Amino acid sequence: MRATMISICLFFMANASQAGDIEFYSRKTDEYWSVYGYAGDDGRQASCSGRTSYKDGSYIRIFRSLTNGDVVVDVYNILWNMAPNTTGTLRWTVFGDGAAYDANLKYKVISFYGKNILQIGGLPEKEFFNTIANAKYFTLTPNNLRSITSHFQNKGDSMIGALMECIRQNEGKYRKTSAPAPNNSPNNSPNNSGGLKEITEQVEDALPPPADGSLTTADGMGLRFVYHYIPPRNPDLVYAYRWAANSHLFSNIPEIVRKDGIFVLSRQLHYATMECGITNAFYSPENAAVVMCYEMIDQLRKIGQELSKGMSDPEEFTREFILSNVRFFLLHETGHAFIHLLDLPAVGREEDSVDQLATVLLLGGYAAQQSKHNIARVLQLASVWFGINSRSSPDMRDYADVHSLNAQRYFNILCIAYGTDPEEYRGLITQGYLPRERAAGCPVEAENIRRSWYRLLSPHFSPAVINVVSKNQNSAAGNKQSKNPLEWDKKPNPFGNQ
Ligand SMILES: [Zn+2]
Repeated sequence: MRATMISICLFFMANASQAGDIEFYSRKTDEYWSVYGYAGDDGRQASCSGRTSYKDGSYIRIFRSLTNGDVVVDVYNILWNMAPNTTGTLRWTVFGDGAAYDANLKYKVISFYGKNILQIGGLPEKEFFNTIANAKYFTLTPNNLRSITSHFQNKGDSMIGALMECIRQNEGKYRKTSAPAPNNSPNNSPNNSGGLKEITEQVEDALPPPADGSLTTADGMGLRFVYHYIPPRNPDLVYAYRWAANSHLFSNIPEIVRKDGIFVLSRQLHYATMECGITNAFYSPENAAVVMCYEMIDQLRKIGQELSKGMSDPEEFTREFILSNVRFFLLHETGHAFIHLLDLPAVGREEDSVDQLATVLLLGGYAAQQSKHNIARVLQLASVWFGINSRSSPDMRDYADVHSLNAQRYFNILCIAYGTDPEEYRGLITQGYLPRERAAGCPVEAENIRRSWYRLLSPHFSPAVINVVSKNQNSAAGNKQSKNPLEWDKKPNPFGNQ
C-alpha cells in the first residue's frame, strides 16, 4: 500500500522534474520554514520565495522576482484583526550585526477565503536586501495596531539564508531583456503587421520528432509541445500579441510545461496566440493546436478593468485576472487536446470533463511550487468569468449548448477546489460562494474526478516518466513489493499532498 501511494504522489513530482526551469530550488528543513525557486507563478515570473510559519498558523513569505528585482512580502498573523481592502503603514525593524534598520512601509490587506493577508510591496530592492540578508532578528508592527508585533528570528540555517542562496544561484538566468529572436518558422516572413513576426518557441531541451515517425524521442519523452505567437492584423490587438510573446505566455504556465513530453501523443501539440475574428479559445483537431485568440485576451482585459474599479491597485488586479483566466482556458483546451490525441474515452459531457481536468491540474500543482492561496485565487478569478457570463434566465440556446450553464461550471470548479481541501477552502462556504448542500458531496466528487483522470492519463505516460515512477517506487518500497496494482484505490486522496 505504501509503495503504491508513493507512486501516485510521484505522478506530479515526475512532472515537476521534467519542467527544467520551473521549479529550480526547493528547501524545507522542517514544517516551519521552506524556500522555493520557481518560474511563472501567478504572473510573478521567475521568483525565489521563502516562508516561515508559526505553530499558530501565522506566517511571513518573502517573494523576490528574478526578472525585475521586485520584492513582495506577505504576512499573515493570526492575532492581527485587519479589514480586507484597507491600506496602511507598518514599521519594519531589522536587527543585524550591531546595526538596526528601521523603515515605514506601505501595505495593503488582501483577502483570501477568510484570511486577511497583509501585503507589503514597493520595497527598495538594494536597501531591502542589504539589511534583510544580514538580519538576525526583525519585527513588524502595523502602525494602527501598535500593541501587536510579529517577531521573526533568523538564526543559523534559516529561511533567509536559503532564500539568499536561491537568489544568488539563479539571479543571472532570469533577468529579462527582450523577447528571444524568432527561429526559422515557415511563417517567419514579414507580413502585414508592421514588420511583426511570428515567434515559435519550445523548451530548451526538446528533441525534434524522430525522422522514422516514432512517437517518443531518444530521451524517452513524448513529442514535445510547440508554442507560437502569431502577429495580428488588427493594430488594436498588437498589445495582446506583445504581451503574450514578451511574457513567453505558454512556457510560463506551470501546468502546461509540466505536461510537456509526459505523454505519448499521436501528434505534436501546438499552442498558439492569434487573431481569430471572434472572442474565443479553442482546440483545433485538424492542426492539433490549442488557440488563444487575442480577442479573448482583449475581452478579459475589459472585464478586469471593470471589476478593478476602486481597488487599490487596479492594474495589478487586471493583470492577474487576465492571466488566471487565460491559464484556466488553456488547461480546458488542453483537456480537449488530450482526449483527441490520446483517443481517451469520454462517456459524459466532454466540456464538463475538461473543466474538471483544468481544475485538477491546477490543484495538483500547488504542492510542488505554489501556495494553495495562489491557486485558490486563480480558480476564484477564473470562476468569476462564468459568474459574470451566466444569464439570470437562460434561454433554449443555453440549454442546447455543449457546455453546461455558466452558473453550473462556476459551482463545479468551486466544488472541486473545496472537495480537494475542505479545511483550506472552508471560506468558500462561510463566505457564501458554495452552498452547503452541494459542498457536502464535494470531497467524494473531487476524489472521483482526480482518480478518473489519473486512470485515463497514466497508461499514456512516456517511457521516461514510467522509468522515474517505477525507480522511485522500487526504492521506496524496499522489500515490501505491492501485489495489487489497484491498491492505491484504498487511499482516499491519491493526488493528495502528504
Ligand atoms: Zn471546451
